[in-house]
Amino acid sequence: MKKIGLLKENQHNKIVVLIPKHIALLKYHALFFVESGAGLAAGFSDVEYEDAGAVIVQSRKEILEVSDIILCFDQLPEMTLVDDKKTVIAFLNVLYDFSPLASFTGKKIDLYSLDLMPRTTLAQSMDILSSVASISGYQAVLTAAEMLPSCLPMITSAGGTLRPAKFLILGSGVAGLQAIATAKRMGAVVKAFDVRRASRTEVESLGAEFIEIEGASENKNSGGYAVEQTQDYLDKIESVIHEEAIQADAIITTAKIPGKHAPLLLKEYSVKQMKPGSVIVDLAAETGGNCELTRKDEIHVQHEVTIIGISAIISRCSKSASILISGNYFAFINHLLANPNLAGKDEILNQTKVIEDGLLINQKLVQLINQY
Ligand code: NAD
Repeated sequence: MKKIGLLKENQHNKIVVLIPKHIALLKYHALFFVESGAGLAAGFSDVEYEDAGAVIVQSRKEILEVSDIILCFDQLPEMTLVDDKKTVIAFLNVLYDFSPLASFTGKKIDLYSLDLMPRTTLAQSMDILSSVASISGYQAVLTAAEMLPSCLPMITSAGGTLRPAKFLILGSGVAGLQAIATAKRMGAVVKAFDVRRASRTEVESLGAEFIEIEGASENKNSGGYAVEQTQDYLDKIESVIHEEAIQADAIITTAKIPGKHAPLLLKEYSVKQMKPGSVIVDLAAETGGNCELTRKDEIHVQHEVTIIGISAIISRCSKSASILISGNYFAFINHLLANPNLAGKDEILNQTKVIEDGLLINQKLVQLINQY
């Protein structure tokens, strides 16, 4: 039986990638070693892990030594003291930042990074990007609502009538649609924009208004993702978004392009003219931000606007995020354990495997690195 080690994440993200329920479902296929306190920040105690069949281990060094497969989220463990062959399963942002990989090359390590999961029917249950995006979109609206000096819904009392807050959502993929749905449920008036024409009907089906800007580039072979836009079109977006931004109370930006710097949609001159007290939540902060003033992992006030660039926003909803992420890890581990001899033949394992025996083998990444 394989030995699987579950590591405790740092306080930055508060996520645990496997919850007790999923360990209980896998306990006849693998032996689990859980670093003490691994689930605490997400609301799962050591006792729950023990009841599910795991062994609680105090020392991280011991877990790294004893395990064949090591599970972590977005921070790779220090493997300098480990000599045996190991498999590490993580969720890195490798298409954008390959620097963490350097510490694994040349070691007897296989690394899978689940952000590279293909968006196929078979891999749907393992799509962590969608889990993270859904929770981020929801949490972005709650964070904006908490920071805004006004209510979201229309409220009428003897003192008068409060108009509903105006939300502008830039990028209406998984995170953007969840943000729209959440803001609508809370009573806000919502407008949204995306470069993918297909998103228009999705935005409208949630009761929001779609902002049409003609001339976007699309590519049918991009797997449903957006592609980089021409400078002319980006200039056009900028002027339309400027007019919308100065009327908004809150802006949630979610626009991303896999492997590229996030498109810049909101410049300083627009922020300068926004209403005092308004809020921007930039969910693209990790890949450079959609707003020119975003500071990664900071909340700051500039031109009387609160700008939120927390990349680990899901940590504010760590239990729900961990439940979804654990469902994805569970499906992936099941797939890996069920297909030990499929190396090189299986699309899911092929596309997510980044390093094999210390060598960078992922073709997508090799191509990207060669472009730099
Ligand atoms: P993402 O996180 O990479 O990007 C977020 C959104 O930003 C996208 O909707 C994109 O079109 C938009 N965007 C990019 N550049 C922009 C710009 N300059 N201005 C405005 N918006 C811009 O993407 P995502 O949310 O993960 O999903 C993108 C697509 O993949 C969607 O069509 C989604 O339905 C699809 N998807 C498919 C599967 C599956 O098949 N298993 C799973 C999840 C998502």
